[in-house]
Amino acid sequence: MIFSSTIAGSLPKPSWLAEPNKLWPQWRLSGGDLAQGKLDATVLAIKLQEDAGIDIVGDGEMSRQHFVHGFLEFVDGIDTAHKVEMGIRADRYKAMVPVVRGTLSLKGRVHQPEARHARAHTKRPLKITLPGPMTISDTIADAHYGDKVKMAFAFADLLNQEARALQADGVDVIQFDEPAFNVFVDEVPGWGIEALHRAIDGLTCTTAVHICYGYGIQANIDWKNSLGGEWRQYEKIFPALAKSRVKQVSLEAINSRVPLKLLSLLDGKDVLIGVIDVATDTVETPEQIAGAIGDVLKFVPKERIVACTNCGMAPMRRDIAEAKLIALGAGAALARKKFG
Ligand code: ZN
Repeated sequence: MIFSSTIAGSLPKPSWLAEPNKLWPQWRLSGGDLAQGKLDATVLAIKLQEDAGIDIVGDGEMSRQHFVHGFLEFVDGIDTAHKVEMGIRADRYKAMVPVVRGTLSLKGRVHQPEARHARAHTKRPLKITLPGPMTISDTIADAHYGDKVKMAFAFADLLNQEARALQADGVDVIQFDEPAFNVFVDEVPGWGIEALHRAIDGLTCTTAVHICYGYGIQANIDWKNSLGGEWRQYEKIFPALAKSRVKQVSLEAINSRVPLKLLSLLDGKDVLIGVIDVATDTVETPEQIAGAIGDVLKFVPKERIVACTNCGMAPMRRDIAEAKLIALGAGAALARKKFG
């Protein structure tokens, strides 16, 4: 089927599970109640996607507090008790980050409960996301490896361990989130792609990488405003991605200043086009979405286009996120009618 639809990853959590409208919410349950609440929210996220006509569904990232730290929680060798301030994404913002103090290893499975629960409750293709190695290594301080690249490859090994296990759980698409690719564009062809290859090593399921300009938070909006009339970061990284073994590339498109002709650099890849803006509460119409898909047809063959969101929707209002999901499903269907 052409123009299938999917989401970048996260959806807003129900307010009985976690504080709403926050990128880093506090849980509102604990112990066994929290574990069960995460699974209940996962089923709800799948139901909302299915009812909206989304074809490749995800867990909505209901079980993690944050897209990077949700993984780091399960890694040994990290000191979370003594966080340090660090400028991240090339100093775009400061954050208190944990410190790597020893050899990294996984404490156990990371996303098994929600992956298996999601698998048990949908017949549709299932996607689970993981943070990418370059983005992780830009979100944590190092007091052990002494080399950012070496540390990134150590994380890539752990990501690969979890990714192989997710594949065995029945996950169809494993996506790595690499917003750092758009910041360290010169390092992507150098080692970023190789770290990603380490993370997907041995996988036979569909693999994807999500590269955006960040959630719709103020620091990112300010950064985007400083990038000029045309955002050409993708131009530097797409040729390397086209040559990579990753099958799908998820990118930011609608309401961005990305010149769409850059998409022709992704020859041979499935392209997950962001047709839902997560930085505005204005809900797209199906006509707008179909139009945005139509705009891409000049640069990407229709059988390789997937309709997606620009980024995760975690910090959004739930009613707006749900309306955007419905618009996404309807917009992809309309595009199939118009251009199929
Ligand atoms: Zn994103």
